[in-house]
This record gives sequence, structure tokens and C-alpha cells, in this order.
Amino acid sequence: MTSDGDNPDVPIHCPECDTQTRVPLPEVAGAIDRHNETQHDGTECARVDPDLADQLADLVAEDMGLLD
Ligand SMILES: [Zn+2]
Repeated sequence: MTSDGDNPDVPIHCPECDTQTRVPLPEVAGAIDRHNETQHDGTECARVDPDLADQLADLVAEDMGLLD
């Protein structure tokens, strides 16, 4: 077992609910959608921290070999 290549958990913050949840990277978009749909009638409240989103973009780009 190696943790290399595992999907990092990403914190989703919702200022409306004052909650933070960690979900695996591939589930982030779905988790945000689901939260906003069920908790806020589709209003976009929950989101990934913008700073982290930048880092994630780099991570994902690296993952996909886009930085080669
Ligand atoms: Zn919320």
C-alpha cells in the first residue's frame, strides 16, 4: 500500500452554515452542488477556499502532466 497518487481531501467551506467538510478531490464538485442544492435551494454558498483552489489547480495540472 502506498499513498502516492491518492486523491487529496479538499476542505469545502460554507460561510452560510459555518461548516467545513473534507471530501476527496473527485467528489468536490458533486459535494458542493449537493450541499447548495439541498441546503440553499441551489444558491452557491459552499465553495473551496480560493487559495486552496489555486493550489489544487496546480496539483491537478501536475497530475495530468500539463506542466511537463
Ligand atoms: Zn451551507
